[in-house]
Amino acid sequence: MHILENLNPEQERAVKHFKGPLLILAGAGSGKTRVLTHRIAYLISEYNVNPWNILALTFTNKAAGEMRERVDQIVGESAGDIWVSTFHSACVRILRRQIEAIGYGRNFTIYDSDDQKSLMRDILKYLQLDPKKYRERTILSAISSAKDELITPEQYETRAQGDYTKEIYARCYREYAKRLHDANALDFDDIICKTIQLFEENEDILSYYQNRFRFIMVDEYQDTNTAQFRLISLLANTADDDGTILHNLCVVGDDDQSIYKFRGANIYNILNFESQYPETKVIKLEENYRSTQNILDAANAVIKNNAVRKDKALWTEKPKGDAIYYTRFENEYEESGCIADAIANVVSAGLASYKDFAILYRTNAQSRVFEEKLVLHNIPYRIVGAVNFYQRREIKDLLAYLRTIENGMDDISVKRIINVPKRGIGLTTIDRITNYAIEHGISFYDALENCDYIDGISRSAAKLGSFVSLIDSFKRHLAEPGYSLEGLLREIIEETGYVRLLQEEDSDEANGRIENIEELISKAASYEENCEEEPTLGGFLEEVALVADIDNVDESNDLVLLMTLHSAKGLEFPYVYLVGMEDGIFPGYSAIMSDNEEEMEEERRLCYVGITRAMNKLSLSCARSRFRNGEQQFNRPSQFINEIPRYLLKQSGAVPAKVSSSASSSLNAGSMGSEKKKIPSSQKTGKGGALFAGNPYISKGFGSTKSASGSPAAVNYTTGDRVAHVRFGEGTVTEMKEVGSDYQVTVAFDNSINRKMMASFAKLKKL
Ligand code: ATP
Ligand code: MG
Repeated sequence: MHILENLNPEQERAVKHFKGPLLILAGAGSGKTRVLTHRIAYLISEYNVNPWNILALTFTNKAAGEMRERVDQIVGESAGDIWVSTFHSACVRILRRQIEAIGYGRNFTIYDSDDQKSLMRDILKYLQLDPKKYRERTILSAISSAKDELITPEQYETRAQGDYTKEIYARCYREYAKRLHDANALDFDDIICKTIQLFEENEDILSYYQNRFRFIMVDEYQDTNTAQFRLISLLANTADDDGTILHNLCVVGDDDQSIYKFRGANIYNILNFESQYPETKVIKLEENYRSTQNILDAANAVIKNNAVRKDKALWTEKPKGDAIYYTRFENEYEESGCIADAIANVVSAGLASYKDFAILYRTNAQSRVFEEKLVLHNIPYRIVGAVNFYQRREIKDLLAYLRTIENGMDDISVKRIINVPKRGIGLTTIDRITNYAIEHGISFYDALENCDYIDGISRSAAKLGSFVSLIDSFKRHLAEPGYSLEGLLREIIEETGYVRLLQEEDSDEANGRIENIEELISKAASYEENCEEEPTLGGFLEEVALVADIDNVDESNDLVLLMTLHSAKGLEFPYVYLVGMEDGIFPGYSAIMSDNEEEMEEERRLCYVGITRAMNKLSLSCARSRFRNGEQQFNRPSQFINEIPRYLLKQSGAVPAKVSSSASSSLNAGSMGSEKKKIPSSQKTGKGGALFAGNPYISKGFGSTKSASGSPAAVNYTTGDRVAHVRFGEGTVTEMKEVGSDYQVTVAFDNSINRKMMASFAKLKKL
């Protein structure tokens, strides 16, 4: 029976579990996610559960996609009926069908954090609050915490009485909720909260979904918040054939990996699961299949310093493996440079591909220096999360056009583009229209349509009128049969002159923006091609709104990934660099200064998550000094490093360049445990080869072969040649420019898209 193959007895017990609540509590890398996927397959093939009756919830779309793929492999085509998705996607799907029952339109807009901030700025102005005293971010985060705990504006107001600041927040919260509703928009928290409201107020709708989702599974359960818990417990109430109520709810998680307290994650959801559902069956998994024993020993040693946790220790049958590499560098440039070197060396020696590496850090700002060094070494990389593609100005502008076309009540989007590109519509005019809209209880766009009646804006009337007719013409065209989203985007660009203006600017930045716009158009085209249902503008906007950062990573790309420790949850990589391991950074200052151990324990769990991402090799590093917020800081190595026993670490000092291999290893700290690694001869090749003998993971002082040479790597095509690109198809090279040790190649593709790209990344094939 192939579903049960390669499962240990405990995993098998979990996979075979049929009805009633099940809690799988286990450490990192013990196969929790794997059990979840196999259980879905087993339910379908052995218990004849209809795939339609299964709901699996995960934290990111990437995880959802991976799970769907694995299920597809095991079950085959019918897997299409299973809902495998994030909490947010599942709720959006439900709301798109049913939200009218709670007074919203089905074409609602989803506001991201930028939209929320713009809205809050408007509200502060409207309530005449000093924006220096009341920061929109602080207020928004108070509102978000309230929503996580399912506290309504009215309840917030009652609780705030007597606390001046909270009373102000309460007024903002009330106005914020009203404006979102008026704009027919939801923020991220609303997506969950409104679904709960929908269920609580509409018994028939709830009972439909209770009957539909007879088997519910939740991955990374330790990071659910109160609202998510309420949602699951509402759904997991299905009447069995004989009428008894069953809670067919299977949750998997690891209390040691709870890292989203700051977003309202409630660790008691997992710790109290058994008291919530007394008939719960509990299964613990102990064997780790991901990492070497040395990596697990390090993880265990760190996490055991936490007081609040269920005691467990990870073990594996895998060999001890390499020691944990630890290096203290002089500064952040040396740290990132050496790591880029090491990656280049390992890859050019043929020992691994770029995608086997992850660089993990505590805060997004730390990525910049790494980015610089990776570029210098011609190493392809992707930063997860730093600048989300969809947060970029030009993308947001174009999406705001699309949103305006889809939902004219979305004031924030309309205001974003009313004067973009510049149409000579001034702020005063916009303020007057806003006030008119508020006074008359209509949307900003409706007010625009009535602008003849608004005092003091007659000078702009013509410009406003032509903006309205522009939007109206887009709407009309969209309604025509056979009109595509791609066509709509191109029309917007053409009619507004958006790209033309960028072309006139002709700076690197402007060209980058044009590329991003092309990327958005490709995204729209691929949405239309791959969409399972009828493609619609609303569907496209929804897909775009729900892409979490990690989702932009395409597995097939051979790239080094850079991300925060938070984004790395659930993932695994053969090589992991945990960087910036310094007191003040990781753990951060606020955890160090806090009297409350809780914050430090959360940082420690984050460290545990980081260590346990590594399959084969783990490197920890820190810098003596680094620039932060414009000043040079001197930091001690992280206390988490001290928590790892010395014998597990292989320490290399900040070695001066051109040191011999013996000198390098003499810098290693004391005994290396049982570790005596044979270095394959292939590692010793290349310029920096000798250094591998000391430390095959971090090599110091030698550039990679690629970056060291000053002239560009050879390419076999030139201007006028026909070339092919994996994604964009065939085209003709129109320009080649030398840039550093690379070429910038411009290609006119046959689909009439012009693209500038770097030769080393584009991997163009001459035809
Ligand atoms: P995390 O806590 O990080 O989310 P997890 O408990 O979900 O980890 P998985 O990602 O499911 O763990 O599994 C970790 C790795 O171990 C995966 O590569 C998986 O394929 C492998 N694995 C799990 N169980 C087995 C097994 N019985 N035999 C072989 N490999 C296994
Ligand atoms: Mg997992």
